[in-house]
Amino acid sequence: MRFETKGGDLLTVKSLIDNYEKRCFDSLSILARSIIDMDKAFKEENLEGFPKLMIKATGELHSIGLELGLDSKDIYPLTLDEQIVWWEKPLHLWPYPSFDEWFFVEEDELEQAVLYDYDVTEFCISIAQGGHDPIHEQDTKEFISIRNLLNNDSHDYSNIRKFLIENPILNLDSPTYMRKIAHMPPNIQEKLVNYLYEAVPKHYYNEGQVYVCPRCGWTLSITDDGDANCDTNKCKKLSSGWYFKSIKLNSHKLLRVRRGIRRYIVDPGLLELNLFKRIEKLPGLKDVILYPNNDEYDLELIFESGTSWVVDVKDWVNPYMLNHNLKPFSTNVIREKAFIVVPSFRGSTYVKTLRSICKKGYEVLDDKQFVKLVQKEGAQFESQI
Ligand SMILES: [Zn+2]
Repeated sequence: MRFETKGGDLLTVKSLIDNYEKRCFDSLSILARSIIDMDKAFKEENLEGFPKLMIKATGELHSIGLELGLDSKDIYPLTLDEQIVWWEKPLHLWPYPSFDEWFFVEEDELEQAVLYDYDVTEFCISIAQGGHDPIHEQDTKEFISIRNLLNNDSHDYSNIRKFLIENPILNLDSPTYMRKIAHMPPNIQEKLVNYLYEAVPKHYYNEGQVYVCPRCGWTLSITDDGDANCDTNKCKKLSSGWYFKSIKLNSHKLLRVRRGIRRYIVDPGLLELNLFKRIEKLPGLKDVILYPNNDEYDLELIFESGTSWVVDVKDWVNPYMLNHNLKPFSTNVIREKAFIVVPSFRGSTYVKTLRSICKKGYEVLDDKQFVKLVQKEGAQFESQI
């Protein structure tokens, strides 16, 4: 890490260096969250000035630049028009120390800016996940309130979460709809549909049909020039043959999960569920639990040998940001190992980077490596009996 300061005594510089990473990551998370809130308010036509948190984050980023003695052109600006220019620039190009290291992901082609074409990016959503209140959106607060109704029933919790991931769109005309929801307690059924889903907005209908994302299953908006877009550009980047794979639904009684649920529960849930399905039937495993203890981790694996592993599946655009927000895992007699599993499409450099910086008691693997490791561990026990 390289700091160039003009003046200032050594002590101030040292405490700044000690806190620099935390201050930057925390204020960037707040900034990203504020941009998302503003974007939502703008789209819903109820934007009323800047969120208070944004003013706080702006002040913090600006004063970090001042404390470092950066050139005035290199200090985070205070006016909105100048800030927008910064937001559209990848973070690794921001002239703050270490940003070139923290925010440069070689094998990742997704945008590394918080705004692209005046729209929030997947990267922006990813950095908003950090900070003190990651589940901040109204849509996800409702999910938490439903979770609190379950009286600590971990099985119900897991079922509801799974239901949302597998049903980002509900067709009220479909005979399977009632069957899908019938096993849930009645008060939960009602809250689920009323709070976590919404009617598909009219402008998503094209000649009576709604296009559905081939990756996450949410609604696609069709632009005037015929382009199809999901909530962020991640789905398009990860789906080859995007246009041909889009499914069309005809019903006018369609509900979709709210945007916050798609972002913070459905999208990450795709990989969590996929990993669960790939390992649950592997030999040598006694049990695989999805979202154990009301979401303490994403998966818990209990091997026939009695060994227990816990796993958190994390798909963050940036490994430094992810590491900054990980709670340390302390090994204990019940759970021998903890893993952070990242999707293999993030690339090998991503995994190596995270592995080298993460000193919090986890083993870091991509999903393919993890499945192989589970097979190996399971086979080991099988061969002993
Ligand atoms: Zn999608």
